[in-house]
Amino acid sequence: MTRTVGILGGGIAGLALAARLAGRGHAVTVYDRDRLGGKLRQLMLAGEVVDTGPSLFTFPQVWRAYLRGLNEPDPLNLRPLPGGLGVHHTPHGPVPLPVPPGHPLHPHWERYEGAAAPLAPFLPVLLTTPPRLRDPLFRQAAAALLRVQGPYLTAQRWLAAQRLPPALTHALATHALNAGLAPQVAPPLYALIPALASAEIYQPERGMGALLDALLAFGQARGVQLREQTTVKSVLGQTLILSRGETARHDLLVSAMDPHRLAALLGKSAPSPLARRTVSGVGVYAVLPHPAPLPATSVLPPSSFAAFHAHVQRGALPPDTLTLVHAHTRQLSILLATPATGEPLTLPHPWVQAQLRRVEETLHTPGLLRDALDVATLAPDHYAQGGHPGGALYGPGLPAWRGGPLHPQPYRLRAGLWQVGTGVHPGGGIPAILGGVQIVDQLLQEAGW
Ligand SMILES: Cc1cc2nc3c(=O)[nH]c(=O)nc-3n(C[C@H](O)[C@H](O)[C@H](O)COP(=O)(O)OP(=O)(O)OC[C@H]3O[C@@H](n4cnc5c(N)ncnc54)[C@H](O)[C@@H]3O)c2cc1C
Repeated sequence: MTRTVGILGGGIAGLALAARLAGRGHAVTVYDRDRLGGKLRQLMLAGEVVDTGPSLFTFPQVWRAYLRGLNEPDPLNLRPLPGGLGVHHTPHGPVPLPVPPGHPLHPHWERYEGAAAPLAPFLPVLLTTPPRLRDPLFRQAAAALLRVQGPYLTAQRWLAAQRLPPALTHALATHALNAGLAPQVAPPLYALIPALASAEIYQPERGMGALLDALLAFGQARGVQLREQTTVKSVLGQTLILSRGETARHDLLVSAMDPHRLAALLGKSAPSPLARRTVSGVGVYAVLPHPAPLPATSVLPPSSFAAFHAHVQRGALPPDTLTLVHAHTRQLSILLATPATGEPLTLPHPWVQAQLRRVEETLHTPGLLRDALDVATLAPDHYAQGGHPGGALYGPGLPAWRGGPLHPQPYRLRAGLWQVGTGVHPGGGIPAILGGVQIVDQLLQEAGW
């Protein structure tokens, strides 16, 4: 007999899991309060389609493992992004990651890569396998991680122990942001990400929107029902109370939205909605009259991670924040990290203007946005509308001892109610989410779904 599944939230996680469950014969409906895609959203600016949200497609092995489970070929035509993780403008000088041969820092980069290398074959396992010690493959992968990270509990301490030149240390520490955390509180794994990922930094040939198109196509081919503009107002047992007074009952419910939001829908009290240990951001998206004279990716780390961390903890705007600049044809995106406080920050805001001046000065591009044909800004209040209540980009910030792939998360809340997505698999963006989908899918299969 066909069983029905209701998925709450149609971001990357909800759509990816929907296709897997529908592929096993379940009748799956995805409900989203807004448009499908969640943080992966396209805007029209000056007549061009502009992708907002994720821009770097990393750890493609996790995507390929997802595709194998659906028996689908890869429709994305992933292309390496020129310059990999980009030029990092540290207070000690610019550092390209990966550091190319011939660069004075290259021998140090090679030593750093060598320290991370034993983990490389196991990372896809860690990202896609339920963390259970009785599973020999997981045990082997966890042992490799523990060996590489040694006795160090944070990214900062691991990096300090490598005794690399300050410019390289500063550039590498920046990647703790992938956990939404400063290096002094992120697990050591995040200091290893540039070594593990930088040979494979991709974008789909047709832009990130192609990932959304692919997930939608996989679902449609398997009969997934898509309900946009349909808000889940509350969850009573297996019944969803939807907008416009509609109700829907499903044998299985899977939440693919932020756990704080789900708690509210279940009528439970949730801890403070503004988790200040993690980051949100202001995304400035522009179409320029001509391509900007910039590499594909430039990174401006905060000059002091201690000051950055203290500000994020307090929910205050850091004096000079972590900034990612992507230039592609005439399109330019500038992402400024902010604390996840759900604030509405607009382009004229003095702090946003000060950060844009820092970008112009550092990259020697005065008046970068002056002649822009069109500009749009997405701020923490935007990300908070359908995600974490503070607008956290990578889910909640977990303490180092609970973060990373070694720790089971609350995938199953009760019989008939499970959860997936960035709030449940925080850190790392798309690989963490697609890996989390595979973990939850495997556990659901074992539970008879
Ligand atoms: C600016 C930015 C840059 C990023 N850069 C990268 C990057 O370079 N690489 C990378 O890998 N990752 C990146 N990320 C992270 C990545 O985009 C996210 O982790 C991912 O998109 C989250 O997907 P999700 O499905 O878990 O959650 P979401 O996208 O938040 O989806 C949740 C969905 O639930 C819906 N919803 C909420 N409440 C309800 C309700 N009551 N009823 C119905 N529906 C509801 C929402 O509308 C939303 O569609 C970035 C994110 C941002 C914002």
